[in-house]
Amino acid sequence: MVGETAMRVVVFSTKPYDRQFLTEASAGRHELVFLEPRLVLETAGLAAGAQAVCLFVHDHADEPILAALAGMGVKHIALRCAGFNNVDLAAAARHGITVARVPAYSPHGVAEHAAALLMTLNRRIHRAYTRVRDGNFALEGLLGFDLHDKTVGIIGTGKIGVCFAGIMRGFGCRVLAYDVAQNPEAVSLGVEYCELDRLFAGSHVISLHCPLTPQTHHIIKADSIARMRRGVFIINTGRGPLIDTAAVIRGLKSGKIGALALDVYEEEEGVFYEDLSGRILADDQLARLLTFPNVLVTSHQAFFTREAMLAIAHTTIGNLDDFAAGRPCPNALKG
Ligand code: NAD
Repeated sequence: MVGETAMRVVVFSTKPYDRQFLTEASAGRHELVFLEPRLVLETAGLAAGAQAVCLFVHDHADEPILAALAGMGVKHIALRCAGFNNVDLAAAARHGITVARVPAYSPHGVAEHAAALLMTLNRRIHRAYTRVRDGNFALEGLLGFDLHDKTVGIIGTGKIGVCFAGIMRGFGCRVLAYDVAQNPEAVSLGVEYCELDRLFAGSHVISLHCPLTPQTHHIIKADSIARMRRGVFIINTGRGPLIDTAAVIRGLKSGKIGALALDVYEEEEGVFYEDLSGRILADDQLARLLTFPNVLVTSHQAFFTREAMLAIAHTTIGNLDDFAAGRPCPNALKG
């Protein structure tokens, strides 16, 4: 039963797991309309009659789309993710649309996934798995290195970056970090802050945990790769455009980059989260990346743990409760 303060909420980019966790968290308080399409200009009309829309990382809320949503009476956007680079906050404010996100949901899950990617690549688990199933028990090509005493560079030491730092310190690594603001928790873990140049030059492994902003766009590009150690491992669980894909492909071909793990990819929209197994992959750069034995790609799944899904659903519904009741929402984003 939909209560008095409840809203009609159109949920874009729905997968079965979104429906399950959001329905349970809402417990009937909001009328949730689950739609599979992503929010783009052509699908914005599907929000007609809703007071709020619920969006994920591949939904677009730029000026024309926000204008279309506002014209239909949409007043609120509830992002069921932490990153908000896909929403034009200033335009949302101009159109009288409030935006809230889920600022934190198990940062451990993302950090642990970054560690899993690193360990898999280093110890060649992805190759060993298929090899032994094919009856090949040889070790050639599976040589890794001890992480102990290696230097790990972390760009962005917020909630996820600091968790990753803790894991790496647990492995006995030295951790260098670059951030626009120092996190005392990282300092207490023994993380050494430094300039980007020193991090690039000194790190065996570089892991990206900063948000995507104009300042961080292509923070990994040809000239930054040139300053790195030969054989560097690069891990990206942040956002795809933090990395210039063409530049890392060149770095992989030359051997400058020793291994690359991507949970996010510059052009992931329309590819990640979809089953395209029966189709031809149209993205030549992604297809090239998938040919390297030292590249591991996962489909933006770092967040995908039971704990995170529960937290995301409860915070999202809590944000919608605040909007519906006209209360200040602690997770609202300023335009
Ligand atoms: P956070 O806000 O807690 O931390 C971000 C950190 O980046 C902060 O310390 C901030 O000062 C720093 N930063 C900002 N601008 C910077 C710059 N120019 N250079 C260096 N550092 C800068 O965020 P978080 O929860 O730790 O998440 C980090 C990012 O991870 C998110 O923005 C999101 O894009 C990504 N993420 C990915 C997944 C996934 O499933 N792959 C899930 C959640 C978050």
